[in-house]
Amino acid sequence: MIWRSPGLIDAHAHISWTDFDAADRGRRTPEDTVRLIAEQARLMRACGFTAMRDAGGASDPSRIPGLTVVGCAAMIGAAEARDRASLDATLSALSVGTRPALSVGTRPAAAPSSARPSSMGDPSALTLGTRPPAAPWVKLFLTGGMGAPPEHVLDPLMTRETIRAIIARIHASGRRAMAHVWGGSALDWAIDAGVDTVEHGVYLTGAQAERLAAARIPLVPTVNIYRILADRAQAGPGGLDVPAVVSERAARAADAHPRAVALARDAGVTIGVGTDYCTPYLFGRNLEELDALESCGLTRAETWRAATETNARIIGLDGPAPEVAFAADPIRVPHVADLARRGVSAREIGVSGV
Ligand SMILES: [Zn+2]
Repeated sequence: MIWRSPGLIDAHAHISWTDFDAADRGRRTPEDTVRLIAEQARLMRACGFTAMRDAGGASDPSRIPGLTVVGCAAMIGAAEARDRASLDATLSALSVGTRPALSVGTRPAAAPSSARPSSMGDPSALTLGTRPPAAPWVKLFLTGGMGAPPEHVLDPLMTRETIRAIIARIHASGRRAMAHVWGGSALDWAIDAGVDTVEHGVYLTGAQAERLAAARIPLVPTVNIYRILADRAQAGPGGLDVPAVVSERAARAADAHPRAVALARDAGVTIGVGTDYCTPYLFGRNLEELDALESCGLTRAETWRAATETNARIIGLDGPAPEVAFAADPIRVPHVADLARRGVSAREIGVSGV
């Protein structure tokens, strides 16, 4: 017996980041990078994920083998927003005028000339019509994260006016804005400016949760990555190999996050499933985010729906992600990660059935 499900979707991952540290990524040969990205995509598919939104870094998401990848056209942080000239340079690279389709159920009227099939050699992805525009998202960094000391992690990295102006220009280019923001004033300003998704929201308050719900802005918390980074057995040498200070900061985020997720859920905020994963060490463990969200109060049925239907809507897919099959009922296996650990790996099945 097999259990069929729409493929799971990761709403926040860095498929092209083969190493945690940017300098380490820079030292890899192009061949090595291509090989590792393909391996990361294979690992995601092996645990049932057939689509994702790139949260930055993938220069050509249509070339990621075997995954439907909704791309991110640019990342804008304090450096890019420091003055008008650098911001103009970043935003002008968004090729304003290609007008990618943004709403679910709407196909691009005319695909940008650079568009290619999103899943090379994967006929099910093509026949499902889930080919997304090349890169409909732009990422904003509005607060610090792992790189910021705790007392400054909620300091806004841009002014209210700058956030408003950038998001207006992103929308004018036909794209949507995702904001890395842990909380504080910058989160309120992003809501004011009509941001399309909030990423992380580690210190989200009850009032902010109410505002997100009222504005129908989804939250993609990425809970599990902070737990992994806080655990020296996984984050230290032999694992991700990040400095101890990163683990200390991650531990604070991991402590705060369940409350933020619970506030969001209670307020009726749409919650998406994203991992913030990079490196072959993490890909393939994407299902763990569902367990992490369940530990914050969501039910399995809620997390499964979030990772399939809701995520498709959040990232702007035309329909469900390519279907997968499990050899055990994924809703009943005690921990979803066990599906992968037991070797009950998902396999893709054609749209016409097995
Ligand atoms: Zn990220």
